Amino acid sequence: MEQHVAVEEDEKVDVGALWGEALEKVRTEVPQPYFDSMIAPLRMLNVEGQTCTVGVPNSFMKEIVSARYSEKLSRALSDVLGLQADLVLTVSSSGSVVESMAMRSPGPDVKSQSQAAPAAPRKKYTFENFVVGDSNKFAYNAALMVAEMPGHNYNPLFIYGGTGLGKTHLLYAIQDYAQSMTPHVKVKYIQTSSFIDEFIATMTLKKDKATFDQKYINNKIVLFDDIQALSTTDATQNKFFDIFNLLYSANSHIVLSSDRPPSEIPQLSDRIRSRFEGGLMIDITPPDLETRLAILRMKARLEKVEIPDDALVFIASKVKDNIRTLEGLLNRVIGYAQLYGTRIDLPMVQDVLKNQVVEPHQSKAPTLDLIENLVASYYGIAIADLTGKSRSRPLVHARQVAMYLCREMTDETLISVGRHFGGRDHSTVLHSCRKIESLIRMKREIFQEVTELTNMINKSI
Ligand code: ADP
Ligand code: MG
Repeated sequence: MEQHVAVEEDEKVDVGALWGEALEKVRTEVPQPYFDSMIAPLRMLNVEGQTCTVGVPNSFMKEIVSARYSEKLSRALSDVLGLQADLVLTVSSSGSVVESMAMRSPGPDVKSQSQAAPAAPRKKYTFENFVVGDSNKFAYNAALMVAEMPGHNYNPLFIYGGTGLGKTHLLYAIQDYAQSMTPHVKVKYIQTSSFIDEFIATMTLKKDKATFDQKYINNKIVLFDDIQALSTTDATQNKFFDIFNLLYSANSHIVLSSDRPPSEIPQLSDRIRSRFEGGLMIDITPPDLETRLAILRMKARLEKVEIPDDALVFIASKVKDNIRTLEGLLNRVIGYAQLYGTRIDLPMVQDVLKNQVVEPHQSKAPTLDLIENLVASYYGIAIADLTGKSRSRPLVHARQVAMYLCREMTDETLISVGRHFGGRDHSTVLHSCRKIESLIRMKREIFQEVTELTNMINKSI
């Protein structure tokens, strides 16, 4: 166990990483000179729940940032956190601020030439980055229509289909598109499980109920991701129903994603089901080979790596019904190439993926419990240690790998993964993922560990 890589002993909440990731998103949207002068000097001070406190050097800048950039910043933070982030700007010149990643990491061009293995660039969830094929073109077109003309047709829009087929991607694309076309339009994305958690918190803490409603009602588009989670208590469903009706009568657009059609969501009240069925229901099915190839090509282009077609076909034929898994294989190949400095061609890909087990009908994602169990037994430690507080290196390492796999292999948000692993903060989860992501590209033994674990998990689903 001791030869485990030196993991930084400390897994303290890494708001720097969180901020860094958000800035990378904003960087693509703001012209360089403005980015350098207005955004780069900002510092993330604190993240508590969904409130992100960001320090601005002076009140003059605070005004400008608040007027011109706060929406972009909130959106980027929301993307990173997987929930709607509330941005709070505060004038701060204190030395205790976290060093911003923007200042540390060179721009994208320089980065690819630097020695250290870069973490994979994050794909933006936009319409441009969504590859359209027969399996998803109806969903794509409907989503685009909503983004362009919210409140017109197809209300609500209900998109359903298996895990890893692009539902969340489309929801984010709607948000991104609508907000960039018409910046004043308010769009809210929410994971249904977060909606439920927030609602329960409002009830139990006797918080202001009107404020809760307002957060949803004052939007032109509201996107509820993974609505199948709504199969819970009557109180929650009633609240959802009220909000749904208010939005609907205000001509706001409601978009829902689900891993199954409304009729198959257990315990869903009839009146909600019939509302869902009263709009437009579209399913996304697994992509054909051509679409899978196009997705791999796009991703390779994004990562600036050359991969010959026969090698891409080999990868694309391994996974048929989950694009997340497909991307995972490609990542493994790219990671291996960077690690060993080899070219990517068919024999190389065959070799790297030879032990990769991919089920033919693996539309199910593993549960967090399954991942946790297998990781614990792989490293020979107790599950309690994995979720516990100990900071010994092997434990921290195993924990970080587990969190990384949970993010790579499931739909779970940073928040829910953190909660699962002993109530850790979402920024801790993000930090762990970043860390393992870059270790995979630098250390052979880590590459090996993650490959073996992924195989074990796939076999056990
Ligand atoms: P879901 O929400 O249906 O489980 P996601 O939207 O999270 O799936 O998609 C999983 C991964 O696959 C994401 O990285 C997403 O960008 C990618 N993906 C899915 N469909 C497409 C597509 N048509 N084109 C490009 N990437 C896609
Ligand atoms: Mg999703």
